[in-house]
Amino acid sequence: MSAVKALAGELDLNFHLEANDGASYLLKIHRVGADEAELQMQDLLLRFVAGRGCVSPDLIGSVVLDSADAPLSGLIARLLSWIDGGLWSDQNHHDEAALFSLGAKVAQLDAALKGFDHVSLDRRHRWNMQQVAYLRTPADQWAARTLAHFQSSVLSRLDALGSQAIHNDANDNNIVIDTNGIVHALIDFGDVVRGPRIIGLGVAVAYAMLGQRDPLAAACAVVSGYHDECPLLPEELSVLDDLVRTRLAMSIANAEEQLEEHLDNAAYLTISQAPIRELVELLSHIEGPLAHASYRNACGFVPVAAQREVERFFASAQFDPAPIVDIDLSNAPVLDWSVDKVGTSQLPSDGIAIGRYREDRAVYDADDFATPFGERRTLHLAIDVFVPARSSVHAPLDAIVRAADIRGDRGDYGGVIILEHVTPVGVAFWLLIGHLSHACIADLKVGQNVARGEVVGVVGMKHENGGWPPHLHAQLYTDLLGKTTDIAGVARRSELDVRESISPNPAPLLVGVDPVAAQVPVSRSNAAIARRRRLNVSTSLSLSYRQPIHMVRGEGASLIDAEGNRWLDLVNNVAHVGHEHPRVVRALQDQAGKLNTNTRYLHPNIVEYAERMRALFPDPLSVMFFTNSGSEANDLALRLARTATGRESVLTMDWGYHGNLNSLIEISPYKFNRKGGNGPSERIRICELPDPYRGRFGNDGAAYAVDVQRRAEDLASAGRPPAAFIHESISGCGGQVDLATGYLAAAYEHARSAGAVVVADEVQCGMGRVGTHMWAFESHGVVPDIVTLGKPVGNGHPLGIVVTTPQIARQFRNGMEYFNTFAGNPVSCAVGVAVLDVMRDQRLMGHAASVGAGLRAQLVKLMDRHSVIGDVRGRGLFLGVDLVTDRETKAPASVLSASVLEGMKRRGILLSSDGPHDNVLKIKPPMVISGGECRRVVEALDECLHELG
Ligand code: PMP
Repeated sequence: MSAVKALAGELDLNFHLEANDGASYLLKIHRVGADEAELQMQDLLLRFVAGRGCVSPDLIGSVVLDSADAPLSGLIARLLSWIDGGLWSDQNHHDEAALFSLGAKVAQLDAALKGFDHVSLDRRHRWNMQQVAYLRTPADQWAARTLAHFQSSVLSRLDALGSQAIHNDANDNNIVIDTNGIVHALIDFGDVVRGPRIIGLGVAVAYAMLGQRDPLAAACAVVSGYHDECPLLPEELSVLDDLVRTRLAMSIANAEEQLEEHLDNAAYLTISQAPIRELVELLSHIEGPLAHASYRNACGFVPVAAQREVERFFASAQFDPAPIVDIDLSNAPVLDWSVDKVGTSQLPSDGIAIGRYREDRAVYDADDFATPFGERRTLHLAIDVFVPARSSVHAPLDAIVRAADIRGDRGDYGGVIILEHVTPVGVAFWLLIGHLSHACIADLKVGQNVARGEVVGVVGMKHENGGWPPHLHAQLYTDLLGKTTDIAGVARRSELDVRESISPNPAPLLVGVDPVAAQVPVSRSNAAIARRRRLNVSTSLSLSYRQPIHMVRGEGASLIDAEGNRWLDLVNNVAHVGHEHPRVVRALQDQAGKLNTNTRYLHPNIVEYAERMRALFPDPLSVMFFTNSGSEANDLALRLARTATGRESVLTMDWGYHGNLNSLIEISPYKFNRKGGNGPSERIRICELPDPYRGRFGNDGAAYAVDVQRRAEDLASAGRPPAAFIHESISGCGGQVDLATGYLAAAYEHARSAGAVVVADEVQCGMGRVGTHMWAFESHGVVPDIVTLGKPVGNGHPLGIVVTTPQIARQFRNGMEYFNTFAGNPVSCAVGVAVLDVMRDQRLMGHAASVGAGLRAQLVKLMDRHSVIGDVRGRGLFLGVDLVTDRETKAPASVLSASVLEGMKRRGILLSSDGPHDNVLKIKPPMVISGGECRRVVEALDECLHELG
């Protein structure tokens, strides 16, 4: 043994042991009278979860110390493997990613524990929430009330939620984190009990909230992490807030009790008490229904379920509100309060105007708007209706009066009433109307019915409304959060998602007010957008970068993000003639304003586009088909080839990627041979990639092409000769591999003599990108039978093309029509023509040749200074930089390459990597990139490689 260190513990003695061989262990010596059955349960449980996809300690052994070990005789000692990492309690700050990972880890452990059973799961245990009846009533009033509420109103609801073994103690000392603060494992299984999994999550949430300035936000991050791993049900979320508060109350109660029993261990037992008091104080500002709505939001449910029904009612034929005032509001101007406090500056002389919903009014600076969460309340969730003082105010629908009083310090909010309405299916919602005259309030009684259109008050004067110009504050509520006074009319911006479900746009209740004109468009933080995306969009769609970027505009070779930062784009070969090129955008807008229909009518655009395209291809490629994407183009190409040959099988080049349709995953080794893929089907053969840098035959194309012949023979002898040989003319996903000299000519010969047609996929590298030719296959002196195009042809508009020979086109005319609803429509074709116009007028192919050659030469020069650059390759503006750890062995530098992408990002340059080892930097910018911009790229790469070297 080389080192022994004593650790903190509630009741047991814990030691960290380091063996001479460097291995680490946790030695637990359990107290006299420890429950042996419980320890046995822990041992069995550790064995149960081992290998179930969740990091947990291995049990090395468990013994009862005998008399030879006196004075420890009779104690139970257990030796566990040590889990490396820091503890959650070591760090003061836990960011959203860390909190999310905590929730995910609790969920993983719950999943691993499913099916575990042992009698001791139901033992009497002071931390079993379902046994709080056994706890002594705490002296602390809040804790006593909370525990009583749990027993009377929550406990019985837990029965319906199922139960299993739960860890039940994800406190800061039981959470092991990695160097980034991400949760690696949960330890200490001493509090495992049987219970609904939502209790275990409640425990984790309660501790994760400690010390957080905005505890509800922290809790939501944990909850979404759990939900992402194991989806939670609305019934579970409906009790979560109570469980969190109950766990805090249990902690207070247990600390009171344990302190009396074990004064000697007071420091450990009271460690959480000060932060718990602070948290309890903060929670007193968070209504239970608000927390509940926030948890629902964190899991992608509509925060307040009633919102759906209320909005359905507003959209229905039965909804017929009476005007709220006798003044026509339909022409009232909309004011902008974010600019100044509306005094007289914006208000028209007749005093009639609308103040917007969802406006962020930074002008709210009074102390009333401060919160204990470190964020001011600035988001206005009502619509203000400015009308002259003394105007009558009517109930829009039949209602019951739920509140009628004078509110605000010094009556600043004037007379305020809350009208309760119900939808036809009985769901209640409320309209709060503020800034009425003080006097009129006396005429209304709480509980009184009012009829649709009945007068409920009059607009207050300036002096009785905090000095504001006369107006009504009209706010809709789908949930009153358990109260009728002190309801927030203005919320924190960070609560937007939840608050706009509690208080949706009230315009439908205000006849004449246009709901869209009277609201501020939403702008959300990147974190909020990412959260909503995760909840609503499949996570199979990946995001670039650890901190994804929110782009809002494009221009030339640059993208501009929501904060106005400019990013040089080396990734997007789709924005071929430049992002949002004005001529292309204008062509689209002009045609979209006139007609957009399908190919069943005569229209000049499709004809002009087909003719213009045809002129760019060598004979006999002359017949055009239109599609909506590169994938559709390749799918149609397969259909053409299969119809023409009456065969099905396909020869495809290794590392090829041809699109996202089923038919194309089947012919794309880049997909079927990597993560989640099932390998090649029996009708597919992979032909060796003719890679001059890493391939077996160097730049000897003909040598690689023999594989095409061999694979074709293989297919034929299996009774399924090939219909097609498909290839990218420069392999993009293969790592920007410029095919070895002579390969295509030889491969075409082999394929054709086997009876296959040849398909060139020019989706990535076509349209003049290689600089010397319009199509990359041309530089190899070959002419394919079918060519497919996509990405750049529409400059971002979904557009794809298949070009083939008259003979294949004729064979395809077998009676089965090719109709594609959107493809070839007049708008798409106008866009396609505009792209060709810009290419011609800005001479972009020539530009790609000269700028690309300059860039390539500079990159080659960088090789003198950076031995990690193994190869610079490609043509025109389709280049690759192959990073290696060793030029001799050409071992790919995959990790370095990922760091380079982040390093380039820090320098404002967007770059991607690809290839079998993800170590090839792909350079394929919009073709309008300038020489100066290319120099910036080289300088940044130089800096980056120095920094990482
Ligand atoms: N072929 C190649 C060579 C491609 O790179 C791609 C897209 N990356 C496709 C086809 C499919 O195009 P799309 O995603 O537009 O359907």
